[in-house]
Amino acid sequence: MIPFNKPHLTGKEFEYIAKAMESGKISGNGLFTKKCHAFFKQVYNFGDCLLTTSCTDALEMAALLLELKPGDEVILPSFSFVSTANAFMLRGANIIFADSSAEHPNIDPDCVEKCITEATKAIVIVHYAGMACDMDKLMSISKKHNVPLIEDAAQAIHAYYKGKPLGSFGDMATFSFHETKNVLSGEGGLLVMNNKKYIERAEILWEKGTNRASFYRGEVEEYNWLDLGSSYLPSELTAAFLYAQLEHVEEVTAMRLAYWQYYNDHLVDLEQEGKIKLPKIPSKSSNNGHIFYIICSSLEERKRLIAFLYDNGIMAVFHYLPLHKSPYYLREHKNQELPNAQHYGDCLLRLPLFYEITEEHLQYICSKIKEFYR
Ligand SMILES: *Cc1c(COP(=O)(O)O)cnc(C)c1O
Repeated sequence: MIPFNKPHLTGKEFEYIAKAMESGKISGNGLFTKKCHAFFKQVYNFGDCLLTTSCTDALEMAALLLELKPGDEVILPSFSFVSTANAFMLRGANIIFADSSAEHPNIDPDCVEKCITEATKAIVIVHYAGMACDMDKLMSISKKHNVPLIEDAAQAIHAYYKGKPLGSFGDMATFSFHETKNVLSGEGGLLVMNNKKYIERAEILWEKGTNRASFYRGEVEEYNWLDLGSSYLPSELTAAFLYAQLEHVEEVTAMRLAYWQYYNDHLVDLEQEGKIKLPKIPSKSSNNGHIFYIICSSLEERKRLIAFLYDNGIMAVFHYLPLHKSPYYLREHKNQELPNAQHYGDCLLRLPLFYEITEEHLQYICSKIKEFYR
């Protein structure tokens, strides 16, 4: 079976974990956590950074930092992972779903602007497949209405818009290092704060609501319970693993892009014959090779293709069931139509793409997809 994903090692993971052990401290906020923070600031020019145990946790921290109250509204894409919505729901906010654009699963900025009301407290966007949303439009909507912008950049490590790294645009941004992402640590995440006003409180939320971080820096004589919080910081073992991966982010991205290009080059005739659609890279966006997807013509056709590939030893998966149609959301909200999110939810199919996939695999997968359509 060709799996959909397989986590990879880049070389120094175990060496760095051993170093963390030797340092005598493996709880959070030690040597490797600081190395990772410095890496993100230097390489991507991010604002203040805090590693988290997941992107989900980074989103939950962002929701706490926004000081949301019941009745506040948060605009976000329906075509996303549940965590993008859950984090804000947990604070009692009303989620307002915006549609994807017609050309790309990313959020449609015109739809965002139409959703803005007096109660809007944040706009959350997702750079799907590591491809940039229309940041010119979204930043100007955020400025014009004075509403903070949060980038869920879970899939967007080492990706750029007009040459500027994704994750450096929003008031805050979140990343994931889950084993299915380009750079991984099993479970893991990052909260980026490009707006200075969040860092002081964020450090307290991160450490269970205490000022332990400033205590360790010798700034206060004792640490105390000051605010809400949770245990959002990862262990040094996770940070050590992550740092080893970060050192190879360029090489991993280049390899994934080569696989992405292989799929694109070998499936383009199916697109020309009108059988499928291939991903369109939005203008001014780079590509980090996170996801290669095809768009089938119907839900029924996609089901048959998934089964056909499975019978031929290939795991291909769909992505996502739009959140506005989920059982949980519909329990308390009325049914609404977001046709583009629905279309991607019904027709988008992700093909296997991981660091150790081989050219033989790619060739075989493309030949089976062609066999299905011909
Ligand atoms: C993967 C992903 C998440 C969740 O990341 P975790 O680190 O698993 O919590 C959230 N949002 C998007 C868009 C993702 O792709």
